[in-house]
Amino acid sequence: MNLRDHIRDVPNFPKEGIVYFDITPLLADPSAFQYTIDMMAERFSDYKADKIAAAEARGFIFGAPLAYKLGIGFVPIRKPGKLPYKTVSVDYDLEYGTDSLSMHIDAVDKGEDILLIDDVLATGGTAEGMVKLVEKAGGNVSGIGFLVELGFLKGREKLAGVSTQNLLQL
Ligand code: AMP
Repeated sequence: MNLRDHIRDVPNFPKEGIVYFDITPLLADPSAFQYTIDMMAERFSDYKADKIAAAEARGFIFGAPLAYKLGIGFVPIRKPGKLPYKTVSVDYDLEYGTDSLSMHIDAVDKGEDILLIDDVLATGGTAEGMVKLVEKAGGNVSGIGFLVELGFLKGREKLAGVSTQNLLQL
């Protein structure tokens, strides 16, 4: 199976000059979606993990079924103001400006190994924010798994010291 065939390139979205890699064709194809989760389980299970954490919205789509398949817990990372209980938050850098991510304060136990999952590694700002958040809560990020890595954006350089893997490098 070639996952590239299930990802649609949308030029000039969300703004002029950006090519957006749309994963919805992959999600709509049951064998491609199953293959993706199975491959993630195979490739990313090198990382010791007590739980998977992933950020809304597309991180949830891959993180939750992978947690189910690996038989481990799932931690939702959300934009501020969405989680009902006490939270821990971090600010992180975007290409232009900053944003924030939150997680429940008791979502990660001290010293727990956490595997982070996201659909696309672009500039690396979001992944860096997730690492900061898990570490702030006392967890240890054992690795980050992406469906797609956009190598030309060099996001990996922002994640020095954290091991990352992808299923597809563009
Ligand atoms: P990043 O620049 O690595 O912080 O990316 C921010 C988020 O936007 C990531 O979670 C990606 O899922 C998404 N993203 C960024 N650039 C693209 C793109 N060209 N195509 C699809 N998703 C993207």
